[in-house]
Amino acid sequence: SKSRPPDSKIVVLGNPGVGKSALVVRFLTNRFIWEYDPTLERSYKHHTILDDEHTLIEILDTAGQEDTMQQEGNARWADGFVLVYAINDRQSFEAAGNLKHHLDMLKKTNVLCMLVGNKVDLLHERRVTTEEGEALAVELSCGFFETSASDGGEDIPEVFYELHRDIKRRKSI
Ligand code: GDP
Ligand code: MG
Repeated sequence: SKSRPPDSKIVVLGNPGVGKSALVVRFLTNRFIWEYDPTLERSYKHHTILDDEHTLIEILDTAGQEDTMQQEGNARWADGFVLVYAINDRQSFEAAGNLKHHLDMLKKTNVLCMLVGNKVDLLHERRVTTEEGEALAVELSCGFFETSASDGGEDIPEVFYELHRDIKRRKSI
């Protein structure tokens, strides 16, 4: 039924402007919209058939305006996290690493996550190499993707589906 609990709950985190909303909307609609309300926190339910199973994924797109209480509530709610930085923004890359450490502390576990370097279409503005992204993902024990929400975004579903599979695997242990 439509009211069944989600199979996985995913929170999307990262500095303002890295493309969190663009990634989520690209995943859900396969479209790119240039402007989103940067202050809006929204959750979405995504029904699909994945690996031959009816699957319901709930995604929370955060706005970065949440207070500490809300952030902790979101972290507690989540089964896994998509940590987004922009490849043309070094600060957002460092922030993503710090976020993972913070979440591990909050949840008292090695949280499941995908590290995502977005905006790879902005090649000429790149400030974070693919190798640096991969190395951080290994250090954080996250999966790793580079994406462009504006340029096709073929890999974006895999970000969410791979994380969903990791979550299912951990739940079934
Ligand atoms: P959020 O604050 O993390 O939710 O970021 P938004 O999704 O609102 O995106 C911030 C800005 O970056 C907007 O102007 C988007 O159009 C732009 N943007 C998002 N993803 C991409 C991308 O992959 N490539 C480029 N060039 N711009 C992007
Ligand atoms: Mg947003």
